Amino acid sequence: MYPDDSHRSAALFARARKVLPGGNSRHGVFLSPFPAYAVSASGCRVVDADGVERIDCVNNWSSLIHGHCNPAVVEAVRAQAGRLMAVGMPTEAEIELAELLVERLPGVDQVRFSNSGSEAVLFALRAARAFTGRAKIAKVEGAYHGNIDAVEVSVAPPASRWGDAHAPAPVPATDGIPPGVLEDTVVLPFNDVQSSEALLREHGAELAAVVLDPVVSRMGLVAATPEYLRMVRRVTQELGILLVFDEVFSFRLGYHGIQGEVGVIPDLTALGKIIGGGLPVGATGGRADVMAVFDQTLPPLKVEHGGTYNANPMTMVAGLACMRQMTPDAYQRIAALGDRLRAGLRRALDDTGVVGQVRGQGSLAAIGFTGEPATGYRSLGYREEERRKAGILHRHLMNHGVQIVPYGMFILSTPMTEADIDFIVLQVRGGLERVR
Ligand SMILES: *Cc1c(COP(=O)(O)O)cnc(C)c1O
Repeated sequence: MYPDDSHRSAALFARARKVLPGGNSRHGVFLSPFPAYAVSASGCRVVDADGVERIDCVNNWSSLIHGHCNPAVVEAVRAQAGRLMAVGMPTEAEIELAELLVERLPGVDQVRFSNSGSEAVLFALRAARAFTGRAKIAKVEGAYHGNIDAVEVSVAPPASRWGDAHAPAPVPATDGIPPGVLEDTVVLPFNDVQSSEALLREHGAELAAVVLDPVVSRMGLVAATPEYLRMVRRVTQELGILLVFDEVFSFRLGYHGIQGEVGVIPDLTALGKIIGGGLPVGATGGRADVMAVFDQTLPPLKVEHGGTYNANPMTMVAGLACMRQMTPDAYQRIAALGDRLRAGLRRALDDTGVVGQVRGQGSLAAIGFTGEPATGYRSLGYREEERRKAGILHRHLMNHGVQIVPYGMFILSTPMTEADIDFIVLQVRGGLERVR
């Protein structure tokens, strides 16, 4: 049973703490008192250092849409590794992946690759600032857009620092964010159409961009309402502000991206995660006139864009092998698995009488332990009580063959079957009985 001091993972963590502060390089993968260390994986199953196998509903925080060791991706990477791993020259694979993305995403005429979703957001914001000549950006309270200064603001602020509900205070997500960053960040209350519109108008002349993820994973998959998206699109257009969709996470929700699903076309799109087929990746795409800020054949060059590993051929071929399998049928099949999971989770809540709600769409599901409808960051359940319940469910599942994102999110992969989904639901039911 996890956690047990005799576990090999416990020993690995003790060793890690000597050479890595906190024993890790990525806070999201830490578990108290120690994380289970991964050793191998295949399809939708991962095996830890103590030989325990679990169905993986984390999928590296969504980057693995085909689960682990997808044969086409493995073969593409193996062949590329034997031919050319990295080189100070462009390769055809970069053009091929760019063509695929441009073909699928309505808001993307052109694209530039980088190495992480954070970089993709960084270059989208820099392009927006260069294009508009303005300094400020707006983001919604409670949304995560990566580890760069500009968006490490009001990601999960404590209630004591929220400020006005109609004009949330910009709260640094971490120490080390210079005050100037906060001055250049306008925080919008998610799904509050009136207040957000007022803020956009108030700061309009100084705003370069609004960055928005229409389905916010950090909020347990609370989705933007159609009215909210329409308002943001209309007002940004009117005021000359660029609308940036952060689709690093949400591109897994539709063949034409979340922009295709919601029918709102952004000016710029930040991509990452699934488009790298499991390898590190980022991409910034958008309208050709805005993307021209990167065009060194049109001097003077506005935005310099370097990066030793940008469009490296290993990532490009892995991304191609992954995305080519994500046909409209594949999106439909994985969304049907998602429907089955969400229905099962709702039944499990009903049958056990645990107060909660199930959110999500497509290949994503989340359980929240609050009865009130969650529309934005402040309406989520943040009391000790709700956190404790999510912790009980997570721990129960760890010991019953299912790994989920600790705050109650399930991220599916294409190798999963209906039987896998039913197994997950069965184990959640057991977890909910314990919560009750
Ligand atoms: C993961 C994620 C990022 C950051 O991507 P990294 O590759 O981890 O830098 C940005 N935005 C969203 C919505 C994400 O889910």
